[in-house]
Amino acid sequence: MSKLEGKVAFITGAASGIGRQIAERYAREGAIVVIADMNEGAAHETAQRFADKGWRTFAVGVDVTDEEQVDRAVDLAARELGGIDILVSNAGIQIVKPVEEFSLSEWKKMLSIQLDGAFLTTRAALRHMYAAGKGGSIIYMGSVHSKEASLLKAPYVTAKHGLIGLAKVIAKEGAKHGVRANVICPGFVRTPLVDKQIPEQARALNLSEEDVIRKVMLKETVDGEFTTLDDVAEVALLFASFPSNALTGQSLVVSHGWSMH
Ligand code: NAD
Repeated sequence: MSKLEGKVAFITGAASGIGRQIAERYAREGAIVVIADMNEGAAHETAQRFADKGWRTFAVGVDVTDEEQVDRAVDLAARELGGIDILVSNAGIQIVKPVEEFSLSEWKKMLSIQLDGAFLTTRAALRHMYAAGKGGSIIYMGSVHSKEASLLKAPYVTAKHGLIGLAKVIAKEGAKHGVRANVICPGFVRTPLVDKQIPEQARALNLSEEDVIRKVMLKETVDGEFTTLDDVAEVALLFASFPSNALTGQSLVVSHGWSMH
């Protein structure tokens, strides 16, 4: 029996990297996956590739920082597919530089994508979950940076810590509706987001790219290994398919031991 048979999962940032892998994992488990991404072309391409494999998908272009767009996209998906059972709030970006060099607009952009995006998608999805009365699962894409700090990442670390607070409140408020909320906290995963950071960090820290990987990114892991897309998707499946309110308000680190909190 597939673990997510017939469940509708709305996944933001699903046209690339971690979000796309989660969408694929869910689809293999029988879910109907909504590929929601600001990059509308890539969202449609991803959905087409999934449809070619016989999976039920729906693509929607949405900027998670835009209230109207989020409400419209979530309402549309719920109407087309018969509700929303799972939300994965995953869309994110990274900007690396010392805190004194951040502009206010860069700071606000990061907080807006990570936190406004999480709030807006949560609010829109909860309205459908509560109305349907079938419960649901809200999953936030945190990071080891929800628990630990690194140089050059002030707004990212701030925002990722914030997601844990949001998840705890949603866990409390959602409980009587059978809605759970949890945070996945991955270590470094090779995606476009990380590939872009390697040369940026090398410049900012005056290190070779090899040293950024070995001495910065993977330094604190137990085995010098990157976390994989599959590792993260596996945790996303656990949170989505867990059968009771026992697993809620939690943050689970999947990072080769980089963080043990
Ligand atoms: P990615 O760059 O491969 O994918 C991010 C996706 O989000 C892209 O498709 C992009 O178009 C979309 N996106 C960006 N801004 C958006 C917006 N405003 N509205 C809608 N979509 C938007 O990145 P990734 O590595 O897969 O990262 C996904 C999430 O995982 C992020 O929240 C990131 O912080 C988190 N994360 C990544 C790593 C890692 O090592 N890659 C580690 C921990 C956490």
